[in-house]
Amino acid sequence: MSESRLSTDQQRDIAEALEAAGVTLPCSRCGHQSYRVLDGFLLENAQSQLRNQVISGDNRVPCVATVCQRCGCLTQHVMDVLYGGVPMHSR
Ligand SMILES: [Zn+2]
Repeated sequence: MSESRLSTDQQRDIAEALEAAGVTLPCSRCGHQSYRVLDGFLLENAQSQLRNQVISGDNRVPCVATVCQRCGCLTQHVMDVLYGGVPMHSR
């Protein structure tokens, strides 16, 4: 398996965490009911300024995302919040 891909267990864990958090509403853009968990984590870059890009492991915000199966709307969820501050790899 590629490092950029999630295992079946990871995808199931994310889907369960989303459901436990009450993430059950339809797509915010098109109203479609079906979504899938994005097959990989997203690492957003938190910046304190707009002019210069700072790339570092310290300012990364790990996220999981869902993708609407009809319109492709991408919705991100910050993992620290979704998992109550417990990183997935230590669960
Ligand atoms: Zn949609």
